[in-house]
Amino acid sequence: MANPLLGLFPNRQITGSVGCPSCGEWVSVQSNSCSKCGHWNPSMWGYFRYIKSLDASLFTQIIIYTCSFLFIITLLIDPYNFSISNGFSDFFEPSTKSLLIMGGSGSYPLISMMSWWTVISAQYLHCGIFHLIFNMIGVNNLAFPVFKLYGFSKLVIIYTFAGICGFLLTSIVSIISTHISLPSAFNGATIGAGASASIFGLLGALVSYGQQSGDNSTKQIALQYSLIGFIYGLISPNIDNCGHLGGFLGGYLITHFKYLNYKFQDNIKLFFWAIFCLFMAFLSIIASIIKGFFFINW
Ligand SMILES: [Zn+2]
Repeated sequence: MANPLLGLFPNRQITGSVGCPSCGEWVSVQSNSCSKCGHWNPSMWGYFRYIKSLDASLFTQIIIYTCSFLFIITLLIDPYNFSISNGFSDFFEPSTKSLLIMGGSGSYPLISMMSWWTVISAQYLHCGIFHLIFNMIGVNNLAFPVFKLYGFSKLVIIYTFAGICGFLLTSIVSIISTHISLPSAFNGATIGAGASASIFGLLGALVSYGQQSGDNSTKQIALQYSLIGFIYGLISPNIDNCGHLGGFLGGYLITHFKYLNYKFQDNIKLFFWAIFCLFMAFLSIIASIIKGFFFINW
């Protein structure tokens, strides 16, 4: 009789064989290691095919639904203080207080409030409806090429790591700028939010791929998009250029690391790291809300 518990784990393959993620040799899903190359747990407990079937559209949906949902919550959490239109900068801008409660990052939350986890939560928050829409278009356009070249797990890891780098850099620069005078476009953010640092990280990963693989056209196109994005940031008000730069460098550098290089096959460990990134995002928002309600004066 089939184990009834197996029904609790959908999409699991329990019979037949899979191609080893390292060497491609066919191995039984029941094998603990590949007979040819010794790769540990080649079937990934029977989830190899399922993990392989995850694609960019799943990632894009997770990001777009989460960011849109959180944007509405950010407006509703302080409903009397969001501005429908603040000049021409954007529309439906949440109040600073609601951004802080939900997990906005920057030098103030990071240093003054000691909320280190906001470097992740802020990636899912936005400061206006156009800010949200433009960033979601960016995610939608860039997730697919990065997925194609790196795979699902690395896409999630690169995206998250780049966002962390962006918010760290902008917070550090923001502190430096209180001591040294810097050009106003590079003052860093005291309180900031948005997916753009992560998006610049995806561009950085594409440039890195182009360089390492010798695919010049990918490199050129990604560099051009990055440049247009930077210039747009420089000429627009209230854009966190340091966050963009930090995100780009994060995505570019992390893909030079052996296990996140485009050549390295996706495996169960990377998949767990990707799930860990998404789980940390969830926890970081919860931690911010709990801390926000208890520590911010209403
Ligand atoms: Zn093998």
